Amino acid sequence: MASSTISVVPLVVDGRRVEAAADEHADVFNPSAGSVICRVPMCGPAEVDDAVRSALAAFERWSQSPAPKRAEVLFRYKAILEDQFEALAGLVSTENGKTLEEGRGDVRRGIEVVDFSCGIAHLGKGETLGQLAEHIDGHTTREPIGVCAGITPFNFPAMVPLWMFPVAIACGNSFVLKPSEKVPLTAVRLAELALEAGLPPGVLNVVHGGRPVVESLCRHPDIASVSFVGSTAVAEQVYRMGCETGKRVQAAGGAKNVMIVMPDAEPDSTIRAVMGAAYGCAGQRCMAGSIVMGVGDAAGPLERRLSSAIDALVVDDTVANPDAQMGPLIDASARDRVARYIDNGQREGARLARDGREKAPSSGFFLRPTLFDEVQPDMSIARDEVFGPLLSMQRPADLDEAIERANRSPYGNGAVIFTSSGAAARRFARGIRCGMVGVNVGVPAPMAAFAFSGWNRSFFGDLHVQGHEGVMFYTRQKIVLSRWDDTYERQQGW
Ligand code: NAD
Repeated sequence: MASSTISVVPLVVDGRRVEAAADEHADVFNPSAGSVICRVPMCGPAEVDDAVRSALAAFERWSQSPAPKRAEVLFRYKAILEDQFEALAGLVSTENGKTLEEGRGDVRRGIEVVDFSCGIAHLGKGETLGQLAEHIDGHTTREPIGVCAGITPFNFPAMVPLWMFPVAIACGNSFVLKPSEKVPLTAVRLAELALEAGLPPGVLNVVHGGRPVVESLCRHPDIASVSFVGSTAVAEQVYRMGCETGKRVQAAGGAKNVMIVMPDAEPDSTIRAVMGAAYGCAGQRCMAGSIVMGVGDAAGPLERRLSSAIDALVVDDTVANPDAQMGPLIDASARDRVARYIDNGQREGARLARDGREKAPSSGFFLRPTLFDEVQPDMSIARDEVFGPLLSMQRPADLDEAIERANRSPYGNGAVIFTSSGAAARRFARGIRCGMVGVNVGVPAPMAAFAFSGWNRSFFGDLHVQGHEGVMFYTRQKIVLSRWDDTYERQQGW
C-alpha cells in the first residue's frame, strides 16, 4: 500500500474525532498478513493536556448526574455494543491477529463489564449506622474521584479498556484512555459508540502514543487515578510515577502461569483446556498457561497427547481463513523474541518436542506452537514471561514438589490444577501463592463480577480492576456524622 493512501487514526477529544498534529507516527499492522493497515500518531504532553482539560470540564456535570441517569447511558451502550458485536470482533481480529472466535471472546468479556456497571445505582451505595453515638447518626457515600486515566496493552484491544472506563464513568468520573499504539482502532470505535449511546462529550477521551504520553498522564496534576495493564517493568514504573504525584494507581503486570496435571485428571477435557490455555491467542495472554507440570505418571501420556494435539492445530491467517485455530504474534519483534526463547531452551538442555519455527505460515508474524519437555526450573523458558505460543513441560514427582516449584515464580496471576481428587484440589488451592486459581479450569480469569486479582509482581497497588474493587478504586468514601439534639423530643414529652 502506498503511504499516501494509509489513513491516520484519530484521537477522540471532547466528543469529536480529532486529527493529531504529531510529527511521529507508528504503523498499525494486520499481523496475519504483515501489512500496514493504518498509522497512529505518537502524541505528546500537548494532546494529553487537551484531553484532560476536556475531561475536567465534563466531570463537573457528569459527576453531579444521578446514578440511574448514568446507568441509562450504559444500558444504551450495552445495546449498541451487542448490535456491533460481530464488527467489533472482526476489528479486534484484524488489528491483533487473534481468531474471530477469540475476538468475540475479547468483546464479550468487555460487554460483561458494561453490564456490571449498569448496576451502579446499587453498586455505588454507602452504609449507615444510626445512633453511632448519643444523638449521632453516621452514613457514608461513595463519590467520584475526578479525571481517571487508563493505559492498556495490545493483547485484549476491547476487553482491557472495557475493564476500566465503564466502571469509572458509571461512578461519575471522566476518563482519558491511552490504548496500545499497536491496536488503536478498537479503542477509538469503543469511544465513538459510547458517544452514540449518549455519553456527554469529554466524559471519555482517547489519546494515542507511547512512553511520553504515559509519562504525561502519570504526572498530570489534574488526573486523579491511573489504571495500567501491561508488562511488569512498565507497570512498576507507572505505579511509581503515579504514586509520586499522589494518584491512586492500579497497575497489572506480566505473568508466568502454571498448570498442574495429576495422574487422575480426566484426559480429554484436560488436553483441551491445556491446549486452549497455552496456545489460545497465540499465547499472548497474561493468563496463558506457559508451564505444564505432568505430576508422576501423568507426564508421559500428557506429552504424547499434547504433541499430537499440536500437530492437528490449524495455524493460519485469521482474517482470510475462518477455520484458523491459532493466529500470529502481534509483530515481527514479538515473533523473533519467542524464536530466541526456543534457541535458549535448546541451549539450556530442554527437549524440544515440537518446534514452532517449523512449517509456520510464511506471511505475517507466525510461529506454530512450541512444546519443550524436561524443562528445569532455573531455565529461562521456565522463569521468564515468553508471551507467545511456547509451553514448557516439567515433571515433578508429586503435588507438593509441583506447588513448591510454582511458588518460586516472582509473578502471581494464575495457576490451575487438573485432578479428580477434591483433596488434591484443596491442597493446591490453599498452598499456591497467586491471585486466581483454577480447578479443572484452564484459564481462571474471573468474569466481570470479580476483580482481576493478580498478586506479587503481577500487580502493583491495592484495589484491582473490575468488580467491586473497581467501584472502590474509582470512588472515594465520605462519612457524614449528624447530631440532632433532643430538644424537640423533650418538648413532645417523648
Ligand atoms: P507493554 O508494557 O509493552 O505496553 C503496555 C502499555 O504501556 C501500552 O499502552 C504501551 O504504549 C505503554 N508502554 C510501553 N512501554 C512503555 C514505557 N517504556 N514507558 C511507558 N509506557 C510504555 O505491554 P504489551 O506488550 O502491550 O502487553 C503485553 C503485556 O501485558 C504482557 O506482559 C502481559 O502479561 C501483560 N498483560 C497483563 C494483564 C493483567 O491483567 N495482568 C492483562 C493483559 C496483558
